[in-house]
Amino acid sequence: MTLDLKPISIKELTSLSSPKVWTFNCYIDQIKSITPIKGWLQAEKKDNYLIITANIKTKVDLTCHRCLKNFTKNLKAVEEELILISKNTKGSDPVTSQKVFDETEDWLESIHPNDSFDPQRWAFEQLSLQMPTVNICSQACPGFFRDSSKKTSNMNNETDHQTTTLDPRWSLLKKIQKT
Ligand SMILES: [Zn+2]
Repeated sequence: MTLDLKPISIKELTSLSSPKVWTFNCYIDQIKSITPIKGWLQAEKKDNYLIITANIKTKVDLTCHRCLKNFTKNLKAVEEELILISKNTKGSDPVTSQKVFDETEDWLESIHPNDSFDPQRWAFEQLSLQMPTVNICSQACPGFFRDSSKKTSNMNNETDHQTTTLDPRWSLLKKIQKT
């Protein structure tokens, strides 16, 4: 069973009478998820932009940066994004970009009319954005230094104990002091 997650050209998308829908139930190479990426993604062309709607979820295993334990994080891309179809994909035309930003502030991405929309790439980018920059297992993370600091103070106590009772020089000194 192969799922059709192939990119679609803007021209082909334009020729469709209904939105293009992809169903996800697979792994994507770049995302090391522990469960398949599941959900759907829809692309629809309107005037000079694409409307991307998606509901995609998966789970990844991460290592907590504080306590070094592994934990599972849910990643999900549940959103609607507008992608401008423009020959100036880098917004080099100040007139175009000015006009665009006046219309709406949702214009973050643009795509060239000769390009293709890649659902896998889109899913990868959106899910990657959900990856935390600092992995913390939970708000109740016990942390890494708590236990080790305890150990250190125990060791200090032990050391003190040893010097007072076991070092024979101390008893000698005491004897001298007494005499
Ligand atoms: Zn932790």
